[in-house]
Amino acid sequence: MGDASQLRYDGQVVVVTGAGGGLGKAYATFFASRGASVVVNDLGGSHKGEGQAKNAADDVVSEIRNAGGKAAANYDSVENGEGIIKTAIDNFGRIDVLINNAGILRDISFKNMKDQDWDLIMKVHVVGAYKCAKAAWPYFRKQKYGRVISTASAAGLFGSFGQCNYSAAKLAQVGFTETLAKEGFKYNILCNVIAPIAASRMTATVMPPEVLDNLKPEWVVPLVAVLAHASNTEESGSIFEVGGGHMAKLRWERAKGALLRADETFTPGALLKKWDNVSDFSEPEYPTGVANFMGLLEEAQKLPANPP
Ligand code: NAD
Repeated sequence: MGDASQLRYDGQVVVVTGAGGGLGKAYATFFASRGASVVVNDLGGSHKGEGQAKNAADDVVSEIRNAGGKAAANYDSVENGEGIIKTAIDNFGRIDVLINNAGILRDISFKNMKDQDWDLIMKVHVVGAYKCAKAAWPYFRKQKYGRVISTASAAGLFGSFGQCNYSAAKLAQVGFTETLAKEGFKYNILCNVIAPIAASRMTATVMPPEVLDNLKPEWVVPLVAVLAHASNTEESGSIFEVGGGHMAKLRWERAKGALLRADETFTPGALLKKWDNVSDFSEPEYPTGVANFMGLLEEAQKLPANPP
């Protein structure tokens, strides 16, 4: 990785979804200031996904152009990934980086949740990330270059009261990214996922101003900048928490676990006797793929029939 202050994106085309405000605007203005041509996508609706307006994207495009940068607006919902990527191709002839950032909230307890609250969140976050990546993928493969950064959330990683729709959609970004990373690596398509925290209209209603003052969206930008840059040739399939100036990688941890023979001794009672091992993290492993688990099973075959 190079010196972040020197990172530039001249000649590259960056698509940022939901770039009309908040984090997306911070990414879009940054990439444009460092030489990239930027597609500023934004549907321009409310934070609950109601309505639409062109001015959200237009204002950011004007800001970028006034500062001497290159940008084009797109007003599609992210469910129309093809239209968004087409804006990049029509205006700038290529696409190098996709930032899946657009998002909405429909917070409500599970008991009171309506299908519409669930469906809309899935459409914007899950279908949206899929459609945009799907439309960009053929270009990435053909040019053997692509960077995708998708947006999860602490709510998805850990759960959050009143956000089961959003949590499900946000953890989906992790599985999506981990698989795209595996499929894309040999084509130099690197995919990572961030769980940000930042002051925006999304957090304005749930956090006090003095906390928000220390959660500037601009402070999330350096991580995205590094992951999206050509000098990143290795980091892919990773999860990062980022906010308030702190950035850290997260990973899966597997407990030591219990191994039981798959024979007549494999009973619920036998499992109960080993229950402490199931959740014993004193000798952890850090699996990164299904193969790690299959390796464990192979070990299991080598156990004596009646282990001590
Ligand atoms: P924000 O509301 O300021 O920005 C989201 C943008 O996405 C808005 O401009 C909105 O108009 C746009 N958008 C919504 N639906 C769209 C659609 N269907 N098509 C195109 N654009 C659409 O919020 P933000 O905080 O900047 O959020 C950015 C991303 O970060 C979201 O994915 C959000 O879930 C995620 N996130 C934010 C935080 C945080 O602390 N701010 C925490 C965790 C995750």
